[in-house]
Amino acid sequence: MSIRGSKRRSFSGNAERQLCADGARHALSAGLFLGVFLLLIPGASAQRTQLKPGWNKFSPQDDISLGKRAATDAEKQLPLCNTPKVDAYLTQLGTRLAQKLPTGGVQYPFEFHCVNDKAINAFALPGGYVFINRGAIEAADNEAQLAAVMAHELSHVALRHGTNQATKAMLAQTGLGIFGAVFGDTTGGALLTQLGSFTAGGVLLRYSRTAESQADVMGTQVLYDAGYDPRAMAQFFERLEAETKGKNPPEFFSDHPNPEHRVERVDEEVEKLGGVPANARRDSAEFEAIKREVLALPVVKKATPGVAGPVGPPAPPSRNFSEYQASSYTLKYPDNWKKYPDSDGGGVSFAPQGGLIDDGSGHSSLAYGLIIGVAQAKGSPDDGNALSSATSQVIQDLQKANPSMKITRQGEHLRLNGQPGLSTYLSNLSPAGGQETDWVITVLRPEGLLYFVCVAPQSAYDNYDKTFSSILDSVRFAH
Ligand SMILES: [Zn+2]
Repeated sequence: MSIRGSKRRSFSGNAERQLCADGARHALSAGLFLGVFLLLIPGASAQRTQLKPGWNKFSPQDDISLGKRAATDAEKQLPLCNTPKVDAYLTQLGTRLAQKLPTGGVQYPFEFHCVNDKAINAFALPGGYVFINRGAIEAADNEAQLAAVMAHELSHVALRHGTNQATKAMLAQTGLGIFGAVFGDTTGGALLTQLGSFTAGGVLLRYSRTAESQADVMGTQVLYDAGYDPRAMAQFFERLEAETKGKNPPEFFSDHPNPEHRVERVDEEVEKLGGVPANARRDSAEFEAIKREVLALPVVKKATPGVAGPVGPPAPPSRNFSEYQASSYTLKYPDNWKKYPDSDGGGVSFAPQGGLIDDGSGHSSLAYGLIIGVAQAKGSPDDGNALSSATSQVIQDLQKANPSMKITRQGEHLRLNGQPGLSTYLSNLSPAGGQETDWVITVLRPEGLLYFVCVAPQSAYDNYDKTFSSILDSVRFAH
């Protein structure tokens, strides 16, 4: 069962605008200065954009110790490529780029790791711990494009975006329990201990679009200074975008939100740098050899980060229940399941540990558990025709996202907390292998058609049937 957006939450806040204003101020003063400069020396090329880290509650030394701890966790949790040749190549390329990185005198202990993950992504932890998915190496057309991704990541390190975001999040969301708990003890170590995850709940890698644009600009400068064709930065992102039009966007864009006018901004910086040097480096035989090596690596199926568990079926549903409160209903779900609210806030999923499975492209699918969503629909709760046509629409949408999905039983009436509902059974390919059963219950509510999709592999469905019924029996509508 395909679901979208349950893994990551989007971050927005006033703090982002604060950084924007900062950026604008830098740009403005640079512009005024340039105006004078150009008048004095006609024909001189414009100066490169000057970028500095934003306000930060952490010290660069905190970045290093925080990043080191996070990197140790990441190495345990992520499937690494474990190919010395690839690691040596990434280290060599990364070091060459890092030498051109303006760190303001801070000596970061750069490390470069290859992750055996087909999703096109890369991330850098504070302090210089860079992880590059095999998917990013495979997606790069040439060495300059891979260097572009790495230069972008290194720029996040130099601009200290991870702890800058954490600082802003702390300010913007002091009301949130985790930050109160975390920053009560202001060390980075506590942040990781309390959140228990190598990205500290995503805070360290939740960049703003402004931060993304800054990383592009500084990355372009690094590429240029290291002798690479600086246009590779824009080329890589342009290709990523074009290739995934209308499909799931690559994981890279969920960690690194696509800034506006990305390509234009990079082109502008290339011009400021004086254009593309005639002998700019684009590719190497070494890169092509490494790419072939990476393409030949076995594919690792991974559980979604945060729900990573032992391989095999999840533990049976607990008989103890936790309560979930949505805006228009409440329900009870097994207390050994986790809830995954949708990023847009409209729906929620519940799954046991190991119930979400990554298909290898960064897109997670629910193999065991329950998905709840709301679809647009009009009609009074008692209007049988409206219920049945809205239900058909939802089933068609599910079938569009899951092409092997077939209806096995439909049109049965039932009641959910006294409200008329429809029951539909479907079969589908399970992300856990074999066939799965999907039991869909739909009810018309003032906010639209509320649907519950109970999912388990066919072979295990009997073990979940009772739990699904208990959850549905516990549903209470607000009015
Ligand atoms: Zn980024």
